[in-house]
Amino acid sequence: MKDELANKFFETYGHQPEATYFTPGRVNLIGEHIDYNGGLVFPCAITLGTWLALAPNNDRTIRFKSLNFPEEAEIPLESSYTKDGSGWYNYPLGVFNEILKNFQIPVGFDLLYTGNIPIGSGLSSSASIEVVTAYALTAYLELDYDRLALVKMSKRVENDFIGLNSGIMDQFAVAFGEKDKAIVLNCDTLEYKIVDCDLGDHVLTIINTKKPRGLAESKYNERVSECQAALAALNTEVKISNLCELTPDKFALHSHLITDETILKRATHVIHENERVSLAAKALSEGKLEEFGTLMYASHQSLKDLYEVSGLELDTVVDFCADYADVTGARMTGAGFGGCAIAILKKDAVEDFTEKLTAYYQERVGYACEVYVSKIGNGATTI
Ligand code: ADP
Ligand code: MG
Repeated sequence: MKDELANKFFETYGHQPEATYFTPGRVNLIGEHIDYNGGLVFPCAITLGTWLALAPNNDRTIRFKSLNFPEEAEIPLESSYTKDGSGWYNYPLGVFNEILKNFQIPVGFDLLYTGNIPIGSGLSSSASIEVVTAYALTAYLELDYDRLALVKMSKRVENDFIGLNSGIMDQFAVAFGEKDKAIVLNCDTLEYKIVDCDLGDHVLTIINTKKPRGLAESKYNERVSECQAALAALNTEVKISNLCELTPDKFALHSHLITDETILKRATHVIHENERVSLAAKALSEGKLEEFGTLMYASHQSLKDLYEVSGLELDTVVDFCADYADVTGARMTGAGFGGCAIAILKKDAVEDFTEKLTAYYQERVGYACEVYVSKIGNGATTI
């Protein structure tokens, strides 16, 4: 990809890039809708990702181009920026804005991006483009940012510049990911543990439902508010700052404080899902794939029935997986309402699985899904 991108860079800008960087996408293995509730998540970086080739220029201009989008931008170097329309380049522009809060940027840049993460499918192409930009600029300019600072900066871009109320998991996973390992991340304290993720004769399979975007964003914000309502109700008796501070046993003692049935379902999902993450991380690190798979199905069921963020498309995939002998576990991943599901599948069954699932899905949903087999890869890096 590096040479291909260098050629395109030369075609586009008429000179060679000086450096090239990569940041992956991610999947969350288990622990969904937990990151904004201060609990544990269990993501890993995948081998699909975003590449950025760059060179400085003497025009005090930032040129944003991507092989994935026709839209381009040329923006003069200023001391701060605000969001400019809805173009893709707002993600990297937000990163420039963050860096400018602490440092002067002495030169303009010619930037060329390319990516192979399916965009808008819940595999975090947005975190990937944010972190690759933050990583690239700070590395190139030799600015003093550690990986965690890059994560926090990229999250601020997503929250404050782009305006999406998401947690820290995505940026963390794509920055800190390691090959064949997954990350147990406490989204409250940011303590994390890297654990072995040896899938043996199985592979991580990602199924993109290709469901067109609908209400996902507003529903996401609605769930965030519902969790805040649950927290407020519980806080009349217990003093907690996050739902995930309660174990399922403790929650059972206080759940009567939540009188709204819907809010109670949301909180029940969050608190039990948080516990499932610890169990799943332990099972996976001990190579107990069956146990891990059972927890994946339990997670999906809870997201479907209690959190109500699944839907026909994701359920069709997971139902198929549950009946397919060579799948050990499957669940929706990401915020839901479409996007992707993941399955732990026997290596030698990939072809048969893909063929049968594609036909089954087409028949029930009316259009095709896509299946990718991904390795667990490294986080942000210079290449
Ligand atoms: P997701 O993070 O689930 O893929 P988002 O809607 O959060 O979906 O982010 C997708 C957006 O990120 C794209 O619409 C685009 O603005 C930006 N983006 C991601 N990858 C690239 C890329 N390779 N080139 C340009 N923009 C990108
Ligand atoms: Mg995103």
